[in-house]
Amino acid sequence: MAEDDRIRCDACPVLCYIRPGMAGACDRYANACGVLMRVDPHVILSHSPETVPFLRREEWDGDIVGGPAFVTAIGAGTTYPDYKPAPFIVASKIAGVDMVTVVTEGIFIYCGVKVKIDTDRHLGAERSLVRAGGEAIGHVMTGEYGSQMLSLGGVHHLTGSGKKAGRSTCAALLALCNGQAVELVVDDGATIIVQANRAPVINGIAEERMRVGCGSATIGMFARQWLGHVDEVVVVDDHITGVLSEHQAGKLLDVAPTGIRLRGRRSTPGRYFEVAAPGTGWGGTDISDPLAILDKFDPKLARPGLRILMVSTTGEHSGYFELDETLTPVEREMPVDVSFSVDRIRENCEPALCSVLFMGGAGGSLRAGVTDNPVRLTRSVKDTLTRVTCGGAPVYLWPGGGITFMVDVSLLPANAFGSVPTPALVAPVEFTMRQADYAALGGHMDHLRSLEDVLRDPGARQTRAAFANPWPS
Ligand code: SF4
Repeated sequence: MAEDDRIRCDACPVLCYIRPGMAGACDRYANACGVLMRVDPHVILSHSPETVPFLRREEWDGDIVGGPAFVTAIGAGTTYPDYKPAPFIVASKIAGVDMVTVVTEGIFIYCGVKVKIDTDRHLGAERSLVRAGGEAIGHVMTGEYGSQMLSLGGVHHLTGSGKKAGRSTCAALLALCNGQAVELVVDDGATIIVQANRAPVINGIAEERMRVGCGSATIGMFARQWLGHVDEVVVVDDHITGVLSEHQAGKLLDVAPTGIRLRGRRSTPGRYFEVAAPGTGWGGTDISDPLAILDKFDPKLARPGLRILMVSTTGEHSGYFELDETLTPVEREMPVDVSFSVDRIRENCEPALCSVLFMGGAGGSLRAGVTDNPVRLTRSVKDTLTRVTCGGAPVYLWPGGGITFMVDVSLLPANAFGSVPTPALVAPVEFTMRQADYAALGGHMDHLRSLEDVLRDPGARQTRAAFANPWPS
């Protein structure tokens, strides 16, 4: 306690002195009549729907209605730098087995988010900087099948690019992890509004569909449906543009050569790379006129009246053409049967979404809050004796050293993440194992509290587990 009634919070390296009735720099801790308190409610998951006992008038006796409870680390507090045991070490019985869940809000400076944006549109060149509020907070990664990928945050952006950049990075990561919308600008690229589980908004336009496949895959999937209705199909794609008559699918269906010639680089029959530059037009290219990717037809194979469908990988763009007497494609009204096949492509496109995965390294000092021999926790996780969850949500654990995990932020309860001004993100982490295994790895057995005892804490808030998640313990 300071001389003037301020108390010192030691939950992170900022070490705030907090006046009575005030909160610390992160708004997570406050001085309540001389007692340091975690401000947000401590979230406990229940299978029971809509049970929020602390809101009831009558006293809650700690009983869980409708099933087991899982104590998450959301709102649990921190014991950074972990020279003391984790805030909650909870003993429970599951199917007759004595279990322990060690619960802490980890302070992550080695962390970031990976963002998957379902779109074919070109957002920016690989390795281009991604900015929030004008500050560089990450970069464009390699594109994936039908999606563009961003890597945001990480220790260098948080700590190594100046105070302002660190704060902007932390603020953007926090907002994304808590499901809020963030505007990102790619150098020499697009402006994107990203929000977990929502459609991306690219240059002011909400993306609707994720492509059905690459141009070649689209030919394979729908070739049979075009038979008899058109003579040629070109599926325009920034990566692999497909041409029906040359493609293996067309060959197997005896589609006759049409004399079509494409610009770009032929990879294998019916599959072309680099037909145009990347962009936000047809199939993630920069073209608005599909004929721009065609050269003159081969007069030995082409004939007047030849019917051609040109379509993008989402069906968003399409055009129907017929060759005139000079073997020049002329746009015509699309016949109903051909239009039906374009609708079928659209129908097979999934809704475009942004996915946000938090990635953090829990293999540092945080382990000392769990055990007096930290490497044993790492080994126990590797040996699958200890289960790691993030706010009760399942995580993907990276192979190799450390406890490096990723979690889909949309699987966590609302506002599960926090931050401190160092800057760093605060993320909930729980380690669950058998009590015998916990004792064997040097766990803080003298700090065990029963589940029933924890449930009686006045700050405990019971919330329903996300339906899609496996039960965490
Ligand atoms: S920033 Fe928050 S956690 Fe860190 S010392 Fe201040 S009040 Fe405590």
